[in-house]
Amino acid sequence: MAEYDYDLFVVGAGSGGVRAARVASELGARVAIAEMDRMGGTCVNVGCIPKKLFLYGSHYAYDFADARGYGWSTKASFDWATLQANKDREVERLNGIYQGLLERAGVDLLKGQAKLLGPHTIEIDGTERSAERILIATGGRAIVPDIPGSEHALTSNAVFSLEELPSRMMVVGAGYVALELGSVLCALGVDVTLVHRGEEILRGFDRDLRCHLHDELEAKGMRILLETRVEELRKSGSGFEARLHNGRLLETDFPVFAIGREPNTEGLGLDDMGVELGRRGGIVVDDDFTSSVPSICAVGDVTDHIQLTPVAVAEGMHFAHHFYGSGEHRIDYASIPTAVFCQPELATVGLTEAEAWHRCQDVRVYRSVFTPLKLALSERSGHTIVKLVVDASNDRVIGCHMAGHGAAEIIQGLAVAMKAGATKAQFDATIGIHPTSAEEFVTLR
Ligand code: FAD
Ligand code: NDP
Repeated sequence: MAEYDYDLFVVGAGSGGVRAARVASELGARVAIAEMDRMGGTCVNVGCIPKKLFLYGSHYAYDFADARGYGWSTKASFDWATLQANKDREVERLNGIYQGLLERAGVDLLKGQAKLLGPHTIEIDGTERSAERILIATGGRAIVPDIPGSEHALTSNAVFSLEELPSRMMVVGAGYVALELGSVLCALGVDVTLVHRGEEILRGFDRDLRCHLHDELEAKGMRILLETRVEELRKSGSGFEARLHNGRLLETDFPVFAIGREPNTEGLGLDDMGVELGRRGGIVVDDDFTSSVPSICAVGDVTDHIQLTPVAVAEGMHFAHHFYGSGEHRIDYASIPTAVFCQPELATVGLTEAEAWHRCQDVRVYRSVFTPLKLALSERSGHTIVKLVVDASNDRVIGCHMAGHGAAEIIQGLAVAMKAGATKAQFDATIGIHPTSAEEFVTLR
């Protein structure tokens, strides 16, 4: 008779939790998973997937404009309710797929909010279960600002359930979410003002790309206020009024704060168990995702490390293989490619020019700014930037950056080349595919 109900109890059926539960079960563990909301977590329900569908939807505004230059005459009209409904249908389909994956893997699925009662005991809506090991994969949630009127502050979640497009959107922050959702609404004709406390958007990305993207976003109609803080939010008529640090007032119908996400650790009972938490409440784990309490582990956003779906999935895989398999799955956190799906898209892998100068004795930088061929016959203008950063001591490419159409698809491939240690000479020796934007990366001199 087993000592515990399960070998593994996973809290949270998002990107990391589902992968860990499924793989552990397939490796022979007795596994249960608790989920208090919809299957698939942030990415599927209010993150990557619906966001990308919105992006595709909004991009038609630019595609129709391009089409005119190519001889097409179109009378396009847009219906937000249709896009929302179709997005909801796709998300529901994915919810079902996630549930099916778990069921077919033999994982017990428990609906409800889980709380830890002890290092091996979990309570879900009044029912107790025990497990040899508990994996916390509860993700994170958007931070709401601590300002007067913060009860009016909306987060990215509001965009995914918005019934009608607003006339004016204020989006605070200049990271991934602000630029992506700001771009969607901007393309759909909403008057978007981005309010950012810093001196340039996208802190941490390569300077050339940040400036380039700033110009491109403004050219598309987004208003960007730098070095500006919102100090108060109040209701005003049918909309809202944001009081800025300089005393100016900004009227808006849709005040969205995209100022980062914090780990979902509150209410889980972790403090009582003595689980060590970091500065922002994230669970501190070792290389194998074990917390300060040996039977409690954590993966994904709740560890407050790198908040990306493929990272949460890789951590879930590593965890499952480490404890229930042969331990062959390891994670290489070096040079994780990433993209900001704004319009135009920005993607990057490796070091920025500034980081390279910190780490290397000598650095060579190659960059090109050009008008993509597709826009040659379009009424729209726009530029793409590509940039390579090279360690001059060994010719290795240590940073690839691009802002422009297709950037994410292109950089994903270059990330493999970089992982394989490609040199600039090998980039140069690669014949390009003509005519593409990607070929710029092999013709940079
Ligand atoms: P989550 O996917 O958040 O899953 C956590 C789950 O735990 C949730 O389902 C939650 O309901 C459940 N839960 C929480 N507490 C409990 C409890 N007590 N009991 C039971 N269940 C509980 N990443 C990318 O790589 N690419 C993108 O394009 C991208 N776009 C994004 C767009 C937006 C708007 C946002 C907000 C995020 C985006 N991300 C993107 C980030 C990505 O969504 C997260 O990094 C990823 O979902 C983290 O996975 P996770 O498993 O750690 O947590
Ligand atoms: P980010 O960390 O990307 O950006 C937060 C922004 O808010 C920054 O511009 C930051 O400015 C600003 N900020 C932070 N605190 C405050 C504050 N108190 N007042 C005003 N501004 C503030 O967070 P997001 O919410 O955009 O996204 C969360 C995470 O989710 C991302 O980091 C990413 O890992 C993931 N994600 C990934 C996506 C993708 O892969 N395409 C898409 C969406 C999200 P400053 O620079 O000055 O700190």
